[in-house]
Amino acid sequence: MKLLCNYKSSSENNYTPALDVKEKPLLKLFENSEIRKTPMKFSHLPEREVVKHFTKLSEMNYHVDKGMYPLGSCTMKYNPKVAEDIANLNNLLNLHPETPESEIQSALKIMFCLGESLKEISGMDAITLQPLAGSHGELTGLLITRAYFHSKKENRNTVLIPDTAHGTNPASSSRAGFKIKEIKSNKNGILDPKDLEKSMNEDVAALMITNPNTLGVFESNIKELSRILHKNGALLYMDGANLNALMGISRPGDIGVDIIHFNLHKTFATPHGGGGPGSGPVAVKNHLSKFLPVPTIEFDGKKYKFNWRGKNSIGKVSTFYGAFSVIIKAYVYIKLLGAEGLRLTSEQAIINSNYLLSNLEDKYDIPYKKNCMHEFVLSASKFKKNGVRALDIAKTLLDMGYHAPTVYFPLIVAEAMMIEPTETESKESLDGFIKAMRQVAKQAEENPNLLKNSPSTTPVGRLDEVKANRELNVRW
Ligand SMILES: *Cc1c(COP(=O)(O)O)cnc(C)c1O
Repeated sequence: MKLLCNYKSSSENNYTPALDVKEKPLLKLFENSEIRKTPMKFSHLPEREVVKHFTKLSEMNYHVDKGMYPLGSCTMKYNPKVAEDIANLNNLLNLHPETPESEIQSALKIMFCLGESLKEISGMDAITLQPLAGSHGELTGLLITRAYFHSKKENRNTVLIPDTAHGTNPASSSRAGFKIKEIKSNKNGILDPKDLEKSMNEDVAALMITNPNTLGVFESNIKELSRILHKNGALLYMDGANLNALMGISRPGDIGVDIIHFNLHKTFATPHGGGGPGSGPVAVKNHLSKFLPVPTIEFDGKKYKFNWRGKNSIGKVSTFYGAFSVIIKAYVYIKLLGAEGLRLTSEQAIINSNYLLSNLEDKYDIPYKKNCMHEFVLSASKFKKNGVRALDIAKTLLDMGYHAPTVYFPLIVAEAMMIEPTETESKESLDGFIKAMRQVAKQAEENPNLLKNSPSTTPVGRLDEVKANRELNVRW
């Protein structure tokens, strides 16, 4: 609690970088005449017209239920509808968060059991379900790290982060008050223990590593990395957003991880994208459990209850207990698949990804290692001589009926295209994507100008994304 209260707000701290675009007051973006003064009248429209309107809008969008969405790092897989149905049951949906404990035993049981399952899957000892996103889980984990060293009266102020890291890792570290030091990956795309050893000193609080990392490569030195950190009194934080590759195969807690966050909205059945609710539970080893946010949920053999005690706790990190609907869906998903099913899920995700890679490696450059986990990174650099960039390939794929892969990430790969098919794509759909990717590569060689006009079949054509970011205009 203490730490959060001492926490300086963003306006007065130095953690956030200075604004590098022209500042505009939000309200000035709208003209007065554009702000609605009276409620919108819908009632004069017949239901048929309303349904037509919204159906048309929904068709303008691309989504997971419509087709393949190989957006690397995001695990855009199909989510079973039964999880939605159960989360929408009236007695769960309309549960008031202030209902007395004795009347919400089933809800507490769902939260408790999800926590136990995630602990089992990850090999960790204690958990909070409160954080509302992966990045929020990172912040929570780093505040726990800070509280841990505070309690030991150690003044460690640095977090080490590999050059393959997701952008949220340095952002969360900085937000939690740490300095960041980057470590370079080796030629195989993983961290070398020798490089970690060189970066170690008494200022280092933790190494924050994603595993498998954003190149889709398993950090096979992780046990040795953990040994070096622990020998020097530091912690190993694992970004668990890529857990879709590990379930039932490798448990982070067994390979030296002290803190991990999960992305329930990636791995465990909540549709992801569009800014909907997410959930980023954080699990820790015993030595960190007393710093977890309150309340934690306990079971005394008869009753489930909230435990609000915790004088070392970092305090609450969200209103009430987290994103309950996402928690329900994750629990349904885990119960539905069981231990066997979860392992098969990860195996299939890895097989699908390797199948794509082996059918594309003759057409694109593969900067790191030929074997991948659940995703991989290609480079479109070889087409640059024809004036074709990764962005042109991504835009052309839209015209072919696919969502584009993640492009220009991770930053250490030039013209990067990061592809994650997930386990829910059939062989036919993978073959379709391979065909499209090969066709685009051929066009990039033979008729590069064609790629410059894409997309031409989508509701809007090619946007100036830099301008859209820098000169936000919400009028249309
Ligand atoms: C998605 C992702 C995150 C951030 O998760 P959010 O829920 O979007 O905040 C962090 N790290 C990795 C590796 C990710 O893929």
